[in-house]
Amino acid sequence: MSNNKTEGKKGNCLSIVVPCYNEEEMLPTTVDVLTELIESMITAGKISERSFVLFVNDGSKDRTLPMLRDYAEKRRHVCFVTLSANRGHQSALIAGLMEAKKYADMMISIDADLQDDINVIPDMVDKYLAGADIVYGVRSGRKTDSFFKRTTAQLFYKLLAAMGVKTVYNHADFRLMSKRSVEALSEYREKNLYIRGLIPQLGFNTDEVSYERKARTAGESKYPFRKMLALALNGITSFSTKPLQMITSIGIVVLITCFAAAVYAFISYFMNDVEKGWTSLILSVWFLGGVQLLSLGVIGEYIGKIYAEVKNRPLYFIEDGNMSSASDDCSD
Ligand code: UDP
Ligand code: MG
Repeated sequence: MSNNKTEGKKGNCLSIVVPCYNEEEMLPTTVDVLTELIESMITAGKISERSFVLFVNDGSKDRTLPMLRDYAEKRRHVCFVTLSANRGHQSALIAGLMEAKKYADMMISIDADLQDDINVIPDMVDKYLAGADIVYGVRSGRKTDSFFKRTTAQLFYKLLAAMGVKTVYNHADFRLMSKRSVEALSEYREKNLYIRGLIPQLGFNTDEVSYERKARTAGESKYPFRKMLALALNGITSFSTKPLQMITSIGIVVLITCFAAAVYAFISYFMNDVEKGWTSLILSVWFLGGVQLLSLGVIGEYIGKIYAEVKNRPLYFIEDGNMSSASDDCSD
């Protein structure tokens, strides 16, 4: 698992990236807990003194922004950036990672409500130092979620898997990423962001830590059902063209049914127990329906290809190599 070539050379400046939307109730605790954690890891010699917590204010309408300004001024290891408007959790997270990678060697993303267990953060750092580029925080269970959230979330993961989308089961956006994996992520320029679907595509050395997710202690969930559904749809449509391919399959099924209907219609016709015109009418309906669906499916195949091109995802990332035998000047 560990990559010996990079071991020992790894920088150890950590940035904990925290997207915040209307988190005034939670913020005092979050700032205290995370800065204490950073300080204890600095004292233990695990991370560099330059390590910091980066809060990303996602266009909050409450006192989150003035509070962050104040904390960043008074507290060591606290930084913040603020977005010009509410752009949603995924965009806030990307903004934070892109900002943090300018200064830090590894980044850990975590929600402001600290539902994810911060006690596994030192383990994540250990795994990074041992050679992992991406360390997933994976929940061991969903006991603290409501029945509704638990079942809808599980249904969603199953649906994603059925659509052929690779995800890490029971992992949300609590993870450590090395600078180079965040740099790789920055090459995905798509606007419909579903980050946890992108990360497994990056490759690199990965590892996991598992933890129990707690209930929110202050404030309310900023992910109502409406936003969850939008995220789920985005997850599917950003990674899978299966829904388009399904149109082709339905078209084929309808055409096959058309032949069965033809047999039935002709038998009825020869048995003389049908109204005049019914046979040709029913056959046209099935046949045209099938042809139309199949044609839509063919168009869908092309749209799927165009979609992949438009997203312009990177084809590969070079992880390592040795080019010392290649000369700078090969022309002579
Ligand atoms: N969040 C954000 N922008 C939004 C909605 C949420 O930055 O538009 C942040 C929020 O402040 C929190 C994280 O995303 O840090 C996850 O939100 P929440 O804990 O409310 O979601 P849940 O845990 O209920 O899924
Ligand atoms: Mg939460």
